[in-house]
Amino acid sequence: MLGTAKGEPVMSVAGLLKRDQLDVLIQTLRARGYRVVGPRAKSGAIVYDEVSRADELPVGLVSVQEPGRYRLEDSGNGRLFDYVHGPESLKRFLFAPQETLWTVEQNGEVRFKETLPEIRPLAVIGARACDLAGVSVQDRTFLKGRYNDFSDPYYATRRENLFIVAVHCTRSAATCFCASMNTGPRAREGYDIALTELEDAFLVGAGSAAGEAVLADLPLQPAHEGEITQAAQAIDAAARSQTRRLDTENIQALLFNNLEHPRWDDVAERCLSCGNCTLVCPTCFCHRETDVASLDGKESGHQRQWDSCFTLEHGYLHGAQIRPQIRHRYRQWLTHKLAAWIEQFGVSGCVGCGRCITWCPTGIDLIEEVNAIRLPAALRRRHGAQPEAKT
Ligand code: SF4
Ligand code: SF4
Repeated sequence: MLGTAKGEPVMSVAGLLKRDQLDVLIQTLRARGYRVVGPRAKSGAIVYDEVSRADELPVGLVSVQEPGRYRLEDSGNGRLFDYVHGPESLKRFLFAPQETLWTVEQNGEVRFKETLPEIRPLAVIGARACDLAGVSVQDRTFLKGRYNDFSDPYYATRRENLFIVAVHCTRSAATCFCASMNTGPRAREGYDIALTELEDAFLVGAGSAAGEAVLADLPLQPAHEGEITQAAQAIDAAARSQTRRLDTENIQALLFNNLEHPRWDDVAERCLSCGNCTLVCPTCFCHRETDVASLDGKESGHQRQWDSCFTLEHGYLHGAQIRPQIRHRYRQWLTHKLAAWIEQFGVSGCVGCGRCITWCPTGIDLIEEVNAIRLPAALRRRHGAQPEAKT
């Protein structure tokens, strides 16, 4: 077992895979029937796409991420996973952006037909700790368990057929704050195989029986103490390099007690209500359902499509618009994500990936928004004023 400087176990180490042998992993997964997707550099960002060879991965690219800003730069080294992450998490592979849930045919009689997806097992290479944490949060939304009486069959089918090759982050983006959310940069669970990238090799470990079976087919070499220590130190350094931190202490009371705080008007001045933050967020699950009928009226498909609490339509209920202003919609998003989610699912809806900060066109940073509400509240308490009334 590999450990960090804090003595935390990182993962079981099966051995070392030379970088020029990573292709064997891809070919092994393909030979086992998996469709393999991994990080690819496309249109100036790292996105998940089909990979058939290791040389399609983003060699020597790092991402520079700041509020409202993302760009790729050449690092000059040959590393494949230094880019940290792009706009996509694992969300779309489990909760499809758009799919038909059932069809209805009218031909003398009305017949409903379920349209479960045809699933080919999928292997995703390059998932980060925050992505695994995001899947764990979405499992609570979509799978039967303490928070659900039944599983969403579409999500569950894809979930059962997903093989995850995680990568422990050895570099953080400036917008990352997973260390403060206790979700990264080390992938703790939920993966089949985990890699730590070293100078010219990967330290490799299995997190499941399926992962162990795949590793048995790889040309692994023994890992030495020095490589194991180097990997642990690199992950710790990535955590220490994070300058953003979300203070979650009493965050439910803080947000619920400040529903009329002037900061909601302030952020509404900057927010375009575009919904980017919800689309890139690994845990957001808002969707709309519509029926799409054929022109002859004989059949229709019931479709589910990603939606956002930032759209006006999403706040329209039975003849009334319940979130008519942007301040209402931003407040809904933030209070649900960081406070109501905990009541609903027992965990925060935020895993600290920082994507909503990077991909917000106006650079709105949810940590700054929380701090702006928290700091005046603390100052008011210091001066003995009463907290604002809950509305
Ligand atoms: S709220 Fe932002 S930082 Fe948190 S999980 Fe969603 S996208 Fe990531
Ligand atoms: S916070 Fe940013 S990304 Fe989210 S809706 Fe507003 S402008 Fe768009």
